[in-house]
Amino acid sequence: MTKTPFVTKEQVEKIAEKYPTPFYLYDEKSIRENMRKVLKAFAWNKGYKEYFAVKATPTPAILKILQEEGCGVDCSSYTELLMSHACGFKDKEIMFSSNVTPAQDYQLARKLNATINLDDITHIDFLEKVASIPKIISCRFNPGGDFSISNKIMDNPGDAKYGMTKAQLIEAFKILKSKGVEHFGMHAFLASNTVTNEYYPELARQLFKVAVELKEKTGVAVEFINLSGGVGIAYKPDQQSNDIEVIGAGVKKVYEEILVPAGMGNVAIFTEMGRFILGPYGALITKAIHAKHIYKEYIGVDACAANLMRPAIYGAYHHITVLGKENAPCDHKYDVTGGLCENSDKFAIDRMLPEIKNGDYLFIHDAGAHGFSMGYNYNGKLRSAELLLKEDGSVEMIRRAETPADYFATFDFTGLFNK
Ligand SMILES: *Cc1c(COP(=O)(O)O)cnc(C)c1O
Repeated sequence: MTKTPFVTKEQVEKIAEKYPTPFYLYDEKSIRENMRKVLKAFAWNKGYKEYFAVKATPTPAILKILQEEGCGVDCSSYTELLMSHACGFKDKEIMFSSNVTPAQDYQLARKLNATINLDDITHIDFLEKVASIPKIISCRFNPGGDFSISNKIMDNPGDAKYGMTKAQLIEAFKILKSKGVEHFGMHAFLASNTVTNEYYPELARQLFKVAVELKEKTGVAVEFINLSGGVGIAYKPDQQSNDIEVIGAGVKKVYEEILVPAGMGNVAIFTEMGRFILGPYGALITKAIHAKHIYKEYIGVDACAANLMRPAIYGAYHHITVLGKENAPCDHKYDVTGGLCENSDKFAIDRMLPEIKNGDYLFIHDAGAHGFSMGYNYNGKLRSAELLLKEDGSVEMIRRAETPADYFATFDFTGLFNK
């Protein structure tokens, strides 16, 4: 089993003449096609909306594509709000699902009339003090314990810092109602990168039941239920990808089972996917610049963990294709490394790949979400450019690479020189 890059070696050679490696490349056509599939899968729900999780890929050109396809945005910080506002997202198109929220973030969220999703019951007073209580609000739920599907533990909400307990949720709804809130929603994110079609339906089942209970206990009928993110992608070539059509149908089934009989057949379903929307449609493209033979065989590339952090921090697997050698036998075992002074800076460990020569281009798959955005500047490494492969085959730079001047932009050297 293998994965097919969305560009050829010849295309990358041509791109690299203009934009030196490393760079991120996104595939506009596939992004749009995937987004349309998501909308189709949830078309049965009248109020359905996807709020793309900005943190996954905070790049204006990408946000604009998703906006054209009908998405809103999910923000969790001041700058994400600023970017979304600058991209033209307005009012209800902005979800603000933050936690440990600073006052100025809430103030901006209120100014933009974003839908605030409260992470904690104490934030009611905080929000009222630093800004004001809106007419529409959402509360984030954490059921505690384990989150299991078919007896398999997927994640541990009981250890997660997010959301409110059920008792707090009920209390929060009562307080918010007394403070004049007219429209309510609820939200939960219980497992990350789930590669199963059962995650959303099981999450929906739990949330729908709580929604019915909330209605009974507080008289408040939520108008939207936000399934948040967590729908994963098949990073490994032998994994079975999620089928969004099946996922949408699974949510519909529990909706009809639980909400419709409770007289809540008007509830809108929201999602805040990031990884599923963008992950497979972005790649980090890097060039092999050194081959080192010591106790192991190393291929050194011009990108490093500062460009793509997931392998270094989670030991995450990212498939690698050596462009132009797609059909060559994988008969060499390599560690593929970046140049940070950290031994965790490895894109692959003991990976079987075709023989790699200096100058070969490596296509690191599934870096479209939580890739560039997790980048950092350790060792003075600079962030790469981001490029968009457009539907007509042309390539547009959507973010330039950092230069040393960007790295030094927060210092003022003038004092040193005036001595
Ligand atoms: C990170 C995050 C998302 C997106 O998660 P994915 O794993 O990219 O689907 C959605 N909502 C919230 C609140 C998040 O923190």
